[in-house]
Amino acid sequence: MSGDPSKTFYLETFGCQMNVHDSEKVVGTLIREGYRQVETVEQADLILYNTCSIRDKAEQKVFHRLADYKKLQKQGKKFGVLGCVAQQEGEKIFERAPHVSLVCGSASYRKLPEMLVQLEGGQLESAQVGYPQSTVGEIPPLAGENASVRDDASNTILDSQSTDATSFRSPAPSPAGRGISRGAESEFSSSRLGTRDSGLVRITGLDDRQTDECFETEFTARTNPHRGYITIIEGCDKFCAYCVVPFTRGKERSRTSESVLAEARQMADLGYTEIQLLGQNVNSYKDPEGKRGVKRTFADLLAAVGEISGIRRVRFTTSHPRDFGRDIIDAIDAVPSLCDHVHLPVQSGSTRVLDAMQRLYTREQYLERISWMKSAKRDLAITTDVIVGFPGETESEFAETLSLLDEVGYDGIFTFKYSPRPNTPAISLEDAIPDQEKARRLEVLMARQREIQVAHSRTYVGQNHEVMVEGYNDSRNQWIGRTSQNKTLNFTSTAAPKVGSYVEVRVTTSFPNSLVGEMVV
Ligand code: SF4
Repeated sequence: MSGDPSKTFYLETFGCQMNVHDSEKVVGTLIREGYRQVETVEQADLILYNTCSIRDKAEQKVFHRLADYKKLQKQGKKFGVLGCVAQQEGEKIFERAPHVSLVCGSASYRKLPEMLVQLEGGQLESAQVGYPQSTVGEIPPLAGENASVRDDASNTILDSQSTDATSFRSPAPSPAGRGISRGAESEFSSSRLGTRDSGLVRITGLDDRQTDECFETEFTARTNPHRGYITIIEGCDKFCAYCVVPFTRGKERSRTSESVLAEARQMADLGYTEIQLLGQNVNSYKDPEGKRGVKRTFADLLAAVGEISGIRRVRFTTSHPRDFGRDIIDAIDAVPSLCDHVHLPVQSGSTRVLDAMQRLYTREQYLERISWMKSAKRDLAITTDVIVGFPGETESEFAETLSLLDEVGYDGIFTFKYSPRPNTPAISLEDAIPDQEKARRLEVLMARQREIQVAHSRTYVGQNHEVMVEGYNDSRNQWIGRTSQNKTLNFTSTAAPKVGSYVEVRVTTSFPNSLVGEMVV
């Protein structure tokens, strides 16, 4: 659909891959509704922030952005807050940033078209009507942290800052960031609210966390023409003690495998070769019965996506150890396009701490899953997330986490200092660890992992690996590639490979977080 030049929007995204992909769907939805995406706040009529509440710093960034641009409200610009902070803070956002007109949690994105109509209607009327008080205050404020989903797919490891709420300004979809038609499912059911207070339009979408439906749009504005995300499951039922994702994103709900496969086939037809299946916990995927009555397990779905003609690589994130079955490794063994990489968040090496975190597995059970990966036919890279300084974590329990790093020999870890978030079960736990001590443990952890990675990376020198070409780094005069193991392998070449193509590279040099090589011609 062509954009109406009179309706423009700017969208900035904070946080995890789920948020990045949600934004691709939000962008697609807005374009379908006749909006045109622009590159700067100044150019936009509607300014949206898709937010992350993983830690306080992430939330503050959003409110700083809103404060910075408040003056633009006089020009008639409207502001919306989407995502986890929206769901967590709810209507308190209107108090803190009265120029915000739209607050919408991710579980309500299906109703965005309806909300946009309300927003536009309010824009027309707000100058003329005396508006009643808001009536939308039924949703309790909620907080959130999701340490299990990383902020991007890059293997930027040993850097706890990499998991901060990275912000992404959604670029306009490329010509190849094509609309994916997969059957309209947007349902404009009884609308949540459009109320006006003090002349301001206030639209909220906050009450859909018990929905059984996923956010499936007719149009997803993917920005990378070669590699794309597909959400297979939304929400989470695990209720880890430090995390309110189950509250901010709602209960677990899976898409039908038929719908996922239809989307994957369309992406393959459009030229995508790599697909990443997304969910807070992909392993607990439960296929609702589709039109043909087929119900696949997660491993079945993974294999089926990998068998689609044209798809060369399939990744998945994130996994929960409790639900991680051996059948996933069997699928990887059987289907060559399933990537040689598993990200399995452990969070702690101590069974006592895992119990306090309500993670639902022991150190031994976690290590059993690692043993399955190590017995796979191919050499699987294994990465994880670790939280240090959870309330009550003793020095010896922290030492158990260090020994777990040695035992597993991870290819990469994403590290977090525990940070209490409002309303999470863990916030009431005693024995808080001082921030200085958390920082010390983080440093020790990263130093230990660095040693492991330095030694491990050396073993790649002399090996050949297939990479997907991701781009060219002018300052280094190197092509950027990514292996099936999700390692960055930069390389030189006498020929110029096409971005998005797959080439063979011989590794010549290793670094803790990346490899360097020469293209094999
Ligand atoms: S599995 Fe635990 S950490 Fe991951 S999203 Fe669910 S509650 Fe949060």
